[in-house]
Amino acid sequence: MSDSIYRLVYLSQNHIGRGQEALHREIENILVVARRNNVVADVTGALMFNNGRFAQVLEGSHRSIQETFERIQCDLRHHNVTVLMFEKTDERRFSNWSMGYVGDNTQASNTFAHVTSESGFNPAGLTGEYVYDLLREHLLEAERA
Ligand code: FAD
Repeated sequence: MSDSIYRLVYLSQNHIGRGQEALHREIENILVVARRNNVVADVTGALMFNNGRFAQVLEGSHRSIQETFERIQCDLRHHNVTVLMFEKTDERRFSNWSMGYVGDNTQASNTFAHVTSESGFNPAGLTGEYVYDLLREHLLEAERA
């Protein structure tokens, strides 16, 4: 099990108040800490934010995903953390990103916002595969551009 790679996808709701500027500053802070910690823990993945929702993919060993996700779940900057996928996988698909970011001015993120509002913010209307594909396609496209 120690060499196996696991993938976790979750959704959560923003709990950072204080307006758009403070929100973006706080997301920047989250990314700085996430990238620093994830390099050390050999965790890769991506984070998306739009319309009051976060979506994140984390990939790494069982232990590193568990430890990272335990910290994330306790973070008061978001709530209603809902796991959409946690599974063993053959290989990393986000190996280029210690934590790629898909912000709210991107097509992927706008699609995500549309789908989450269509489902009335019900996580049952979204699958881990959908979020995973959306994030990965966006980051690959951004890399090619
Ligand atoms: P420090 O950064 O030193 O933080 C110390 C403590 O303060 C932590 O408990 C932290 O939760 C808390 N804290 C810091 N700033 C604030 C604030 N403004 N409001 C409330 N509490 C605060 N961490 C990762 O390692 N990898 C990730 O991929 C990752 N993704 C995240 C995604 C989201 C959506 C969110 C909200 C957080 C994410 N984090 C991630 C951050 C994570 O929740 C922890 O804050 C972080 O891992 C703690 O790192 P640290 O032990 O180095 O502590």
